[in-house]
Amino acid sequence: MFDHIAQSVTYQKLKLDAPVTVTVTVKRLDQIHPQISGNKFFKLKYNFLDAKRQGLKKVLTFGGAYSNHIAATAYAAQLFGFESVGIIRGEELKDKALNHTLATAQQFGMQLYFVSREQYREKTDPVFLQQLQQHYPAHYIIPEGGTNTLAIQGCKEILTAEDQQNYDLICCAVGTGGTISGLIEASAEHQTVLGFSALKGNFLQHDVQQWTSKKNWQITDAYCCGGYAKTTPELLKFMQSFEAEQNLALEQVYTAKMMMGLMDLIQQNHFSPDTRILVMHTGGLQGRSTEQDQS
Ligand SMILES: *Cc1c(COP(=O)(O)O)cnc(C)c1O
Repeated sequence: MFDHIAQSVTYQKLKLDAPVTVTVTVKRLDQIHPQISGNKFFKLKYNFLDAKRQGLKKVLTFGGAYSNHIAATAYAAQLFGFESVGIIRGEELKDKALNHTLATAQQFGMQLYFVSREQYREKTDPVFLQQLQQHYPAHYIIPEGGTNTLAIQGCKEILTAEDQQNYDLICCAVGTGGTISGLIEASAEHQTVLGFSALKGNFLQHDVQQWTSKKNWQITDAYCCGGYAKTTPELLKFMQSFEAEQNLALEQVYTAKMMMGLMDLIQQNHFSPDTRILVMHTGGLQGRSTEQDQS
């Protein structure tokens, strides 16, 4: 279902000025598919296969207004002949013009329901989920950001045997923690995985611990720029100069924050000399914007 639509991804080495001795290679998961891009491809793959195996032809999932997961799920659903429902955080959005992410999802046939932040918080409550499933008996329910056991199984496939051999440190952006959990599970013993959180707070440490018992990882929120989908003038400036210098597009919610953090740590000599760093470009370019204040 998924593998035949995957396009091959390339590795792009970043230009770094001496005296830096670490190397940074970007794994361009953004190239894997124009709509189901980056990590979302791996997160959705086994979920859709499981839905199909159960004979379900409808999916239901959750997301915020800037959720790449919502856009990717809507597209995948249409591609594979599923109906889709998206429960979106923010009742106030109901009466506003849809932003690019939500307009894209709707265009791909997703039915959007806007709920209050209080209602949205119930999305992980077992009783609520049971009621929801009763209400939507024919829908396969995928959690927020697509993170569940099947998503992590898919994300383990991001790291190849060569990736395990050729690099010492793996970096990725973190939202719900599914992608980094898969990378940690797939990482070799000599490797460390470093996550850059797009959200404020350290609850993600706890979330990721539920998915892996390994200890070779860290998550920092030092570069979250105030929180999810928030931006600072410094971030937007970094993003634009990085894109021009490296000829590599980023977006402001995840990958620009990660890259700004990584470049800062390199400047601070945070890593041992000659560390071979592999950075995941997790895609999300459909939501790229250089305008201030997304939230
Ligand atoms: C969703 C997303 C992430 C975060 O992935 P999680 O598995 O939720 O941590 C990172 N980068 C991009 C571009 C994304 O769209």
